[in-house]
Amino acid sequence: MFDFESELVKKREAGLYRKRRVSASAQTVRSIIDGKSVLSFCGNDYLGLANHPEIKKAFVEAVDHYGVGSGSAHLISGHSQLHHDCEQRLAEFTGRDRALLFSNGYMANLAIASALVGHKDVVFQDKLNHASLIDAAKLSGAKLRRYRHSDITQLETQLQDNQDHPHKLLMTDGVFSMDGDCADLQKISQLCLDNDVCCMVDDAHGFGVLGEQGGGLLQALGLSQQQVPILMATLGKAVGTAGAFVAGSEALIETLIQQARPYIYTTASPPALAAATLCSLGIIEKESWRRKKLAELIHYLRQGLSSLDYELMPSSTPIQPIVIGDNNRVLEMSEKLLQKEILVTAIRPPTVPVGSARLRITLSAGHEKADIDLLLKGLVKA
Ligand SMILES: *Cc1c(COP(=O)(O)O)cnc(C)c1O
Repeated sequence: MFDFESELVKKREAGLYRKRRVSASAQTVRSIIDGKSVLSFCGNDYLGLANHPEIKKAFVEAVDHYGVGSGSAHLISGHSQLHHDCEQRLAEFTGRDRALLFSNGYMANLAIASALVGHKDVVFQDKLNHASLIDAAKLSGAKLRRYRHSDITQLETQLQDNQDHPHKLLMTDGVFSMDGDCADLQKISQLCLDNDVCCMVDDAHGFGVLGEQGGGLLQALGLSQQQVPILMATLGKAVGTAGAFVAGSEALIETLIQQARPYIYTTASPPALAAATLCSLGIIEKESWRRKKLAELIHYLRQGLSSLDYELMPSSTPIQPIVIGDNNRVLEMSEKLLQKEILVTAIRPPTVPVGSARLRITLSAGHEKADIDLLLKGLVKA
């Protein structure tokens, strides 16, 4: 039989126990968590849009017209005009031929790998990729080759050693979710082209934040659909709504619609979410001040952290982790910050490699410099 209890005790002893905190407010930098008012530095609402009045209004108005539930899967009767419009807008926004909406990023990644590769094929992945990409490769049944984080030389060797598969797919985070650094996509996409490998980028943390109009890391680097044929990004982070999308060629999207089980066998997301996303995309495009402010806050935080003698990660994004190493130590630091009404979650294995537990600080355009001053003050004593 299962012995749930003793497994849970082991987790607790190893400092690996996870606990949910209950939020009683909108997702803003100041929120009510477990009944306590806190200043939060751990959300992914990078542009401060999750509680934006115009986006809320778009959502509510769409609920008035379309109701709440979509009622069925996209291929049955759940694909609304709003989903359709949102997909067209996402294609235009990312400079791709076509886009396809998903209920969440986890499923979008499962869909891509399981629809495109199988047991005769091979998938290449960075070791620090998001769990959903790893799980996607496992579900597909393809051979999985993981290279050390950003180790292009090892990737080249793996590409050399795995030439003879019918389909070869490389999947990488654009911005690494727990480290905040970016994949070297200029090099990776070129290597993929040279080796007949299809390059897929998960831009969950770059979309909205990077690029002149918020188009993400690919926009920032000027990488086209030919160079990176599969772009995936999520809508629950900088976009401030929920869901995800895949963008690419007409044939890619049609293949996903026909073959991707995580797309076919699930209920479409509420149509009103698509309306909210449409509204948010307009704001992201127009209000470049949010990206500018974020860049200033990132610079300010990094200066402050280095003057406190914390070692910085090579990150220019809103994800600014402080790696501590020990699980219990990082829990303690997080707990001490919380006593000062500052919320920074302790991130531990298996989300990050063993021995690299960290405080994952994230910034939002909703923060002010004074908020960062409070965080830095909290970190002196922690
Ligand atoms: C958050 C995240 C996902 C999952 O997206 P959800 O919409 O939350 O399911 C996928 N990939 C990366 C890199 C992420 O950070």
